[in-house]
Amino acid sequence: MIAESMDRIRITGLDVFARHGVFPEENRLGQHFLVNAVLYTSTRQAGRTDELEQTTNYGEVCQVITDTLQQHTWKLIEAAAEHTARAILLDFPLISAVELELCKPSAPIPLPFGSVSVTIRRSWHKAYVALGSNLGDRRGLIQRALEGLSALEEVRLGRCSTLIETAPYGGVEQGNFLNGAVELDTLFTPQELLEALHTLEQQANRVRQVHWGPRTLDLDILLYDDLVLHSEQLTIPHADMTNRAFVLEPMAEIAPYAVHPGLGKTMEQLLAELKERGSC
Ligand code: AMP
Repeated sequence: MIAESMDRIRITGLDVFARHGVFPEENRLGQHFLVNAVLYTSTRQAGRTDELEQTTNYGEVCQVITDTLQQHTWKLIEAAAEHTARAILLDFPLISAVELELCKPSAPIPLPFGSVSVTIRRSWHKAYVALGSNLGDRRGLIQRALEGLSALEEVRLGRCSTLIETAPYGGVEQGNFLNGAVELDTLFTPQELLEALHTLEQQANRVRQVHWGPRTLDLDILLYDDLVLHSEQLTIPHADMTNRAFVLEPMAEIAPYAVHPGLGKTMEQLLAELKERGSC
C-alpha cells in the first residue's frame, strides 16, 4: 500500500442527540450518542497546495454523521454505525475507508458502566468482473448489465474492456461468445457482489441448464482486492481465469499490472504464459 493512502483525518467525541434503541422509550425520548471516526484518505495534495478543495471537509463529514443518525431510528447501534459509515463513503469520494466508533454512554444497562460502543471499518474495494454472453442480443445484454451495475449505489464502474468475439469453451456445441471485463470499486462484500451479479443474470433471463452451456449473460468475479478465498460459493481469484484467453485478454487491456494474488503474476504475464502454452 502507498504510504499516502494511509493518511488519516480523525474526528473524536462528536455528540449527536438521536433516537436509536431496542426500547420504545429510547425511540421516543432520545439520548446522546458519541461518534469517533477515522477517515482514510491521502492528504498529500492538500498538504502540498494548502487548498480545502484538495481534501475532505471534516465539518461536512460531521454534518453527514449527524444527519444520518438524526434522520433515522435504528434498534441497534450496529445498524446505525453501518448506515453512517456507508453514508460517509458514498458522499466523500476522497475517503477510501472509514473506521467508525458509535458509543452509547446512556444505554439502558441497569448496572454501573462507562460506555458501550461498536467499532466498524468499512471501505471501497477494487474488483474485476468478467462479462460474457452467447445468446440473443449479446452486446445489448452486456451493455444492460453494465448499466445495471452502475445504477447500484454500492458500485462505481471503472474501465471496461473492448468486447471480443471468442469461440465457446468447455466442449459444448454452441454459438460464439462476446467476452470482456470491467473494473469496479464496490462497497459490497464478495458474497454481496455475487448476489448482485446473479440478480443481473436473472434479469437477462438466464436459465442455468448445461454446465458451460449457452447463456444470455455470465458475470464472474475475477479479482477482489488481493483476496484469496475458497468457499462453497466462491473461489477468488476466479478458479479458471489463468487458462482462459477470453478473460486474460480483456484483463490485460484494462489492468495489465493487476496482480493475481495467489500466483504473484500480472495479467500481462499470465496472458503471455498462456499464449506460450498455445492453449488459448
Ligand atoms: P457459472 O455462472 O455457471 O460460471 O457459475 C456460477 C456459480 O459459480 C455461482 O453460483 C457461484 O456460486 C460459483 N462461483 C465460484 N466462484 C465464482 C466467482 N469467482 N465468480 C462467480 N461465481 C463463482
